[in-house]
Amino acid sequence: MSGAIFILSGAGLSAESGLRTFRAADGLWEDHRVEDVATPEAFERDPELVQRFYNERRRQAAEAQPNAAHKALARLQKNHSAPVYLVTQNVDDLLERGGAKQVIHMHGAVRDALCATCSHRWTAPREMQVTDPCPSCGQQHTRPDIVWFGEIPYHMDVIQDAIEDSDLFVSIGTSGTVYPAAGFGQMARHLGIKTLELNLDASNAPFDEQRQGKASEIVPAWVDEILG
Ligand code: NAD
Ligand code: ZN
Repeated sequence: MSGAIFILSGAGLSAESGLRTFRAADGLWEDHRVEDVATPEAFERDPELVQRFYNERRRQAAEAQPNAAHKALARLQKNHSAPVYLVTQNVDDLLERGGAKQVIHMHGAVRDALCATCSHRWTAPREMQVTDPCPSCGQQHTRPDIVWFGEIPYHMDVIQDAIEDSDLFVSIGTSGTVYPAAGFGQMARHLGIKTLELNLDASNAPFDEQRQGKASEIVPAWVDEILG
């Protein structure tokens, strides 16, 4: 038993910081269809709309503050006697700003920019423009560093190793509808790792234990239990 804990978080973790979740039921994110703003095809078709959408997400994320759940996870990571792997589908940086370290952003980060030509990465300006040249190769083909639907998430090898190293898998504030993240819990169960879900609405996925409530309440309570 390593004692390590693997935590997968989703939009529900940041909901009480004022960042809206993606509504799987109607496929809308901030009143936009995901196909119009969060796919490589959307970016090729209408880069201005996509940049505007993520400029707005970047602005909101920068104005939002970490909530009690982000801070509790940072406290767990700091005080637990074994590794706490923080893997998030969120593109905001509220875990880091709540004090967490080495957060694995499997869907990228809205504060970063990526060159679609040469893959160079840098800190995005608050407002990205379609005509911004890449600071490395000079091409005007820059995009937010976001993993869009249809693209392969980042750090999959590191994530797989972290799941295998863990004794407990915890899913927080994610609907379990976006793959491959939605399959991590099942992977953990196949490996014989105990699984726990902390979510406002219990998902349909099989977990050994499910607790329902607001992240700002149930996450700190669970962290207190673990730290004893
Ligand atoms: P989702 O929007 O599909 O599901 C949100 C989940 O959060 C639901 O299960 C809901 O029950 C739960 N939830 C809502 N409010 C909560 C609260 N106060 N406390 C606890 N749980 C709460 O989110 P997802 O599964 O993360 O998938 C959405 C996709 O959209 C991801 O790929 C993500 O990258 C992207 N996204 C990111 C952000 C962000 O970075 N903050 C926000 C919206 C969407
Ligand atoms: Zn470039």
